[in-house]
Amino acid sequence: MEKKNIDWANIGFGYQDTDKRFVSNYKNGAWDEGTLTSDNTVTISECACVLQYAQTCFEGLKAYTTEDGHIVCFRPDLNASRMKDSCLRLEMPVFPEDRFVQAVKDVVLANEAYVPPYGSGATLYIRPYMFGSNAVIGVKPADEYQFRIFTTPVGPYFKGGAKPLTIKISDFDRAAPHGTGDIKAGLNYAMSLHAIVTAHNEGYAENMYLDAATRTKVEETGGANFLFITKDGKVVTPKSNSILPSITRRSLMVVAKDYLGLEVEEREVYVEELKDFAECGLCGTAAVISPVGKIVDHGKEIVLPSGMDEMGPTIKKLYDTLTGIQMGRIEAPDGWIEVIK
Ligand SMILES: *Cc1c(COP(=O)(O)O)cnc(C)c1O
Repeated sequence: MEKKNIDWANIGFGYQDTDKRFVSNYKNGAWDEGTLTSDNTVTISECACVLQYAQTCFEGLKAYTTEDGHIVCFRPDLNASRMKDSCLRLEMPVFPEDRFVQAVKDVVLANEAYVPPYGSGATLYIRPYMFGSNAVIGVKPADEYQFRIFTTPVGPYFKGGAKPLTIKISDFDRAAPHGTGDIKAGLNYAMSLHAIVTAHNEGYAENMYLDAATRTKVEETGGANFLFITKDGKVVTPKSNSILPSITRRSLMVVAKDYLGLEVEEREVYVEELKDFAECGLCGTAAVISPVGKIVDHGKEIVLPSGMDEMGPTIKKLYDTLTGIQMGRIEAPDGWIEVIK
């Protein structure tokens, strides 16, 4: 297999067309068998439910080349089950979980030439998504849906090392109690765009969202969960029903406990205690962990003791261990690595 002539280290984080994508349509109460296609466009009714009422959800994961030359992806079964949860909440039909994993593998293999080589830092980003495709004008769920998976090569998230971020406590809310914060719905992102543009204009990398009911507890950012390290070395992550259950964060908690022997806690985290933590990181598929150096609470600066120059030591250990597991340098827990080839 000849790889595409791509400058892997410098491709950045944008969409780039690849050869094939998976498409399956739902009609008359059933999914068709699905197919791989070269057509990178979607043609739907001007009145499609997704265009009028945002009936859509998505997933995100990565395929990459391990040290011994296999192409793998990381825990795709959890993406399948999370997408099921998103679909049920949005009154969309579930794409069967085993078929989801198989389709991920098929589409990666069909785009093997775009899977970056080991050591390049780049990966093949995989985007499964579903939307209501038929015309709906009265508010109700669609009857027809399309499930697609495309891939796009993405560069190393941190070019030249991970620099700690400065983030702000946002005055906007991301998710309501009993709302849709715990599913990967496009609508959660639509309403976050103004908040993130505002934060960027003010010079911040991300927003820290608080719980909408009391504004006293930490939830997450627009697209990543928080991990905190206490001064006595415990790994703490916020617990809330309106946080999106990050697969990276759940994996890091296992790594902390079983690989590094650290104490882990999933509990409510108050804004009040931010000043007492030693380290802070953002977890998600894209970057694994981005270190946070400073949190600004309405002008009041909370500088983490790990500082603005590099990742804190515990976050670094977590990062190195999980990426080691992903890249095949460290033995993975059963079922974490899905070998595609
Ligand atoms: C996707 C996402 C994450 C990260 O989840 P991973 O499974 O680790 O990629 C965190 N928060 C939100 C709001 C997300 O949409």
